[in-house]
Amino acid sequence: MSNTIDRLAGELAGVTLLREAGDLTRLSRDFYWFSPVLKALLDDKRADLVAVPASQAEVARIVGACATAGVPLTPRGLGSGNYGQAMPLEGGVVLDLTRLNNVLWVKPGAVRAEAGARLSEIDVQARKSGWEQRMLPSTFRGSTVGGFYCGGGVGIGSNNYGMLKDPGNILGVKALSMEPQPRMVEFRGRDAVDLHHAYGVNGVVLEVELALAPALPWVEFLVSFGSFNDAVSFAQMLGESDGIAKKGVSAHQWPLPRSYRPLKDVVRPGESVVMTLVADYNEAAFAEMVKAAGGAITYRNDPRAEGAKRLTLQEFMWNHATLHAIREAEAAGAAPGMEGGITYLQLGYPAGRNLELVRRIHEIFGEEVVQHVEFIRVKGAVTCSGLPIVRWKGESRLREVMRILEEEGVYIADPHTWVVEDGGKKSINPRHVDLKIAMDPAGLLNPGKLRAWDEREATQKKSVFWDS
Ligand SMILES: Cc1cc2nc3c(=O)[nH]c(=O)nc-3n(C[C@H](O)[C@H](O)[C@H](O)COP(=O)(O)OP(=O)(O)OC[C@H]3O[C@@H](n4cnc5c(N)ncnc54)[C@H](O)[C@@H]3O)c2cc1C
Repeated sequence: MSNTIDRLAGELAGVTLLREAGDLTRLSRDFYWFSPVLKALLDDKRADLVAVPASQAEVARIVGACATAGVPLTPRGLGSGNYGQAMPLEGGVVLDLTRLNNVLWVKPGAVRAEAGARLSEIDVQARKSGWEQRMLPSTFRGSTVGGFYCGGGVGIGSNNYGMLKDPGNILGVKALSMEPQPRMVEFRGRDAVDLHHAYGVNGVVLEVELALAPALPWVEFLVSFGSFNDAVSFAQMLGESDGIAKKGVSAHQWPLPRSYRPLKDVVRPGESVVMTLVADYNEAAFAEMVKAAGGAITYRNDPRAEGAKRLTLQEFMWNHATLHAIREAEAAGAAPGMEGGITYLQLGYPAGRNLELVRRIHEIFGEEVVQHVEFIRVKGAVTCSGLPIVRWKGESRLREVMRILEEEGVYIADPHTWVVEDGGKKSINPRHVDLKIAMDPAGLLNPGKLRAWDEREATQKKSVFWDS
């Protein structure tokens, strides 16, 4: 193996290459450790070389050289995915795309950026002409548009625009095939969605084009409620109030807010909270709605005002809530996987039954499953996604909790697997395999992540051999 890597490094003279053990470990990891299941299975996965291209031409050189040598290649952005998506299961080269970070253009309603551009920087550029991204993961500060496109799919703003995959959100994508002479292919419309959330197994994404939303003057609010039921009912009502412009609506069950240390002065002991961003011109209507629902606004921050706090509630939404809870448990001596530690799940609630199911989950599991829900729009209806904190009692109990939830009618996007189809997708998409045959015929891109490909490979002679 080291001979092949030495040869490859020689061919890539001029490209930034990292081979120090610390760099190889750091850049082979993501937030897989959120899951005690994945932590145990993936801890030793490590690249043999990390390549950090500074231009699309350098990416093409690296891809071509790896394809010629039969070396696996795993693209990565920030590495904030939480299912081991960016971890090189078979070693080889990790392709760090963070220097490929130009925002190429912003037009009314659309932006195009290179894959390594940070989502926060794209928003800065878009806002200059009155636009912002339709949805952002809570990791927006550092995560890349390529990583969000290939590994994520939903976020702050999904209460207005649904999931990233929903028609109209993704406009186009340019990707490089994994071949000795890499081809640049532009995918538009539905074809561009086929590469989405496939963990980069179908091409190295170079550019992403997304639809934008009008940028509004957002003010952040935290509202406290005596019970989680009241908090969730209010969040649903707010989500359905189409006249109130808002971005991000989430409800967090006590004792979860106790973990949010930076918010300790605004969280009331024993109370559940709703977090949201509301356009300043709708503040009065929002405040009336809070009062009528029996809530109390305990935090308000207008980021444009003098003396505004730099803290943003957006970094307590989606899986940031999980991160704060894990950190709090760790501080108390219980890391993920330890007795007293915690883990999490990702749930989808059918519209119309979501409030009933939230209540039912509390009845069944009590404090074993502490709920946190994010409101999203699914085919026009307002419902919620759940990211509950689950007390860790071993993998078999975790699987039992999942089974019970599914029996109740809750959809589970399993965050304890690195396999595309076993997580969110649930089914094998034949277009994924067709696309892989066209874009990565030797199966070298992020190997081990696409079950449909691995099953196909098992019945056919492998066309390449990693290492000679
Ligand atoms: C605390 C926390 C909160 C999160 N909140 C959200 C959330 O709100 N919504 C959400 O959807 N996700 C969320 N995530 C998951 C993740 O942060 C996002 O999906 C993020 O956008 C990933 O971006 P990244 O740059 O870190 O990608 P990475 O983690 O580096 O990569 C993600 C996947 O894409 C592949 N990839 C990356 N770049 C390319 C490329 N150019 N070409 C081909 N393949 C590529 C990688 O191989 C990997 O499989 C969260 C994770 C954490 C830890």
